[in-house]
Amino acid sequence: MAAGRAGERGKTRLPAGRQVLLLEKNAVLGAKLKITGGGRCNITNAEEDEQVLLAHYGDAKPFLHSPFSQFGVADTFNFFESRGLPLVVQARKRAFPKTEKALDVFKILEKYILMGGVEVRTKASVEKINVSDGKVISVIVDGKELTAESYILATGGKSHPETGSTGDGFSWLSDIGHTVKEPTPTIVPLAAEDEWVKKLAGVTLHDVRIIFFLDGKRKIVLKGDILCTHFGLSGPLILNSAGDVADLLHAGEVTAQIDASPQDDIGALDKKITTVFDNNKNKALKSVWNEIAPVGTGNALLPLLNGIEPDIKVHSITKVERRQIVDLLKALPVTITGLMGYDRAVVADGGLALDEVDTRTMRSKKYSNLYVTGDLLHISRPSGGYSLQLCWTTGYVAGSNS
Ligand SMILES: Cc1cc2nc3c(=O)[nH]c(=O)nc-3n(C[C@H](O)[C@H](O)[C@H](O)COP(=O)(O)OP(=O)(O)OC[C@H]3O[C@@H](n4cnc5c(N)ncnc54)[C@H](O)[C@@H]3O)c2cc1C
Repeated sequence: MAAGRAGERGKTRLPAGRQVLLLEKNAVLGAKLKITGGGRCNITNAEEDEQVLLAHYGDAKPFLHSPFSQFGVADTFNFFESRGLPLVVQARKRAFPKTEKALDVFKILEKYILMGGVEVRTKASVEKINVSDGKVISVIVDGKELTAESYILATGGKSHPETGSTGDGFSWLSDIGHTVKEPTPTIVPLAAEDEWVKKLAGVTLHDVRIIFFLDGKRKIVLKGDILCTHFGLSGPLILNSAGDVADLLHAGEVTAQIDASPQDDIGALDKKITTVFDNNKNKALKSVWNEIAPVGTGNALLPLLNGIEPDIKVHSITKVERRQIVDLLKALPVTITGLMGYDRAVVADGGLALDEVDTRTMRSKKYSNLYVTGDLLHISRPSGGYSLQLCWTTGYVAGSNS
């Protein structure tokens, strides 16, 4: 976006125009963009109220007022739709290309840079940035020095380094005296919206299995102890899975099921419960609950049963009702809403401190011809299209002002 916008401006700049050179260390451009949203690309978030939208960027909200006034969500819609890529809005206001293909988003941007006359050099890894007297004077690529009037950094963060984002920009920026904040590790609890989980705050479910689904498809299976909290799920098993779950959250709706009795298949669990019921015929279901389910979960889980009262005597529970109990214990439903962390739903942050960047131009306050964009900026945000919107916004602003 930054290169395309700089190229577009260069074309109309008289008399001589301006040349833009895009250096990419991979053999192809846009490796990460092509895998966004599980290949569907959650291109932005269609929240119309800018105050509400910007609140999702936490502490960065004041910084983002100016860049979003130059290129906001409506501009993103206009940019892609006017170039032949209609967008559709799905759950949680997440916007996707109608084709649901990240590759189509890439193609629009590729065309944009070609139309802007941008020269693209792939397999061109920038090794170093040279500075002098408050300016960048050159970059080193394959041992050769390249000079320019302005320099825009768009080297991304550190997640999924196989796509080329290996954090090079963070090292350069700190080498030249900028403050670079360490990313929050993604070893964090998971936020869940289910009442039963919250009711069990403080209870550990021992030796259970949790299965995570992306848009209904099974993706991750883990076994161990899970701690329920008043905001969601925690404990070492969950904390260590947060990075993988963050990737799923980028791609769509994430749900989970907890199997409270993974050692038994449905038949074996049904048999176990039948034996408990036979031995306690005149007792109420709630009184024998601790013998058939994780201890202490009665108050939270019994209300999930449809048409089966906690006070029902177990001898009057029908086979169908017993099967409902079995099914519940084999698949306790959880809806994951995000990661708990910096702003309670963060999936990415870390990068250049915002007080060292001019909000109107994305220009470094230390180097007068250096501009910084996208994942290089220290801005926390949840999943839902907010990251790419940040790229479109900051890329456009840097390209407009460099
Ligand atoms: C699996 C996954 C799915 C995602 N899905 C979504 C989504 O659906 N919606 C959303 O809003 N966000 C999503 N994100 C986040 C989003 O992809 C990033 O915020 C965005 O790609 C950042 O863009 P960027 O231009 O800052 O950097 P990047 O996209 O990381 O691009 C950086 C580029 O710089 C190149 N580079 C790095 N170092 C050098 C060097 N030394 N010399 C030359 N070139 C170099 C890299 O090869 C790379 O091509 C997802 C992230 C991941 C990991």
